[in-house]
Amino acid sequence: MGPPGSGKGTRAKIIGKMYDIPVITTGDMLREAVSEGTELGKQAEGYMKKGELVRDDIVIGIVEERMGKSDLDRGFILDGFPRSVRQAEALDRILNKLETMIDTVLYIDAKPETILERLSLRRSCSNCGAIYHLIYKPPENEGACNECGGELFHRDDDREEIILHRFEVYEKQTYPILERYENRGKVQRMDGEINIDEISDEVERILGPP
Ligand code: AMP
Repeated sequence: MGPPGSGKGTRAKIIGKMYDIPVITTGDMLREAVSEGTELGKQAEGYMKKGELVRDDIVIGIVEERMGKSDLDRGFILDGFPRSVRQAEALDRILNKLETMIDTVLYIDAKPETILERLSLRRSCSNCGAIYHLIYKPPENEGACNECGGELFHRDDDREEIILHRFEVYEKQTYPILERYENRGKVQRMDGEINIDEISDEVERILGPP
């Protein structure tokens, strides 16, 4: 968990690789549906453009379907879910059904100034979802992903007025669920200001050796 631009996606991908576990990223799943023009994408697009949360029932549906697959036995990481009280309640229900539970909630702390700068310089791969920063992690070839050669783009919702609205949405709808996990003693804080090459050490300190 963490505000928009705090580095959830970057960390989730690093953790997924380190521990060789699937990463379930609702933002990427929704963006994919939008670019493929599926029914789900059509329903989600308007909310995403405005920086609003996509309707709970839609997001819960895609997560539930994804978590029904058989590749999660060795663990998984959720990135960008849950983001509301209803989603957190649904997650408890889904996990109960799977007879498993969340070990750790990683909460990423970052200053608003850092986030605004980071998001305006962020570029994402339209093919594999890899994330770049034009100054701190530039692609080797301008506009192209190092991993798959896919085209890099600046997300519509990474523009200043939408970012500010995403912050408000985060504070109102998502931040309150942190308390739920704090009461269960699950929350570990991560420093959202550190450099990308320091992240895996911090992860290992918190989650233990892969
Ligand atoms: P992200 O890539 O995580 O920043 O998500 C981008 C956008 O996708 C958000 O601003 C929401 O519109 C939508 N989204 C992603 N995850 C969720 C979620 N769990 N609940 C509702 N909307 C979501």
